[in-house]
Amino acid sequence: MVKGYLCKLTATPCRPVDYEWISGNVHVKFNSLIGKRISIKATGNIRCVACEAALSKTYGEGFCWNCFSALPQNEACVLRPELCKAHLGIARDMVWAEANHIQPHIVYLSYTNTIKVGVTRETQIPIRWLDQGAICAIPVLRVPNRYIAGVCEVFLKQFYADKTDFRKMLLEKFPTDVNLINEKHNLLTLLPSELQQYYIDEDLLNTFLYQVKYYPYITKVINLPGDEMVEGVLSGIKGQYLLFEHGAAMNMRSQTGVEIELYY
Ligand SMILES: [Zn+2]
Repeated sequence: MVKGYLCKLTATPCRPVDYEWISGNVHVKFNSLIGKRISIKATGNIRCVACEAALSKTYGEGFCWNCFSALPQNEACVLRPELCKAHLGIARDMVWAEANHIQPHIVYLSYTNTIKVGVTRETQIPIRWLDQGAICAIPVLRVPNRYIAGVCEVFLKQFYADKTDFRKMLLEKFPTDVNLINEKHNLLTLLPSELQQYYIDEDLLNTFLYQVKYYPYITKVINLPGDEMVEGVLSGIKGQYLLFEHGAAMNMRSQTGVEIELYY
């Protein structure tokens, strides 16, 4: 048994994608648990991922209310890049903004359960795609900061989804009729002239393989600590989701800060 606080699994872009839970002294290679019976129990403890205060509930991805309200990683432009004002010198924390938002960003197309458009800091590639469970992805535009990436994304949302339906994503094995290279080429003709300067000429298609023995139809999404525990044979890992053979799925990242005991 190991005990620790949940957090985003660390994904490594191997084939298949390798997922590790690293939290304090805990290091668990989750791929090695696929095909085995495991159980995860909430201890009832929850703490803020930033200040470690004991909590009854979290805000955002594992924060107390104060840290959620004040820290730069919870600013609105993290989820909505078009709201970023860092390039104008306006941000909760300009040092953080310089390192994270006034940096080259990539606007990409990825295939999860549908073709979606998204934005990420260039250094987050390919991890961003592994975290969302994408099967393939291609960078389309390279822009100098988060704000411009957001403007491009807002424009492209006319043509592509920007959200993933995770239940469908979890069932998706390989797209049959998706050609992201063609989509990228078509997109150049749609772009307004002022955004065409950011177009990436090379077709850098990435494909990903996840270790999933069997794709169960998802009948239950586990939310700790309310669900208290989940037990079953781990069928695979995709995106930040553990898939169980009996149809349960659990998102590790969204439960950041919840303390668990893992039995295997
Ligand atoms: Zn806090």
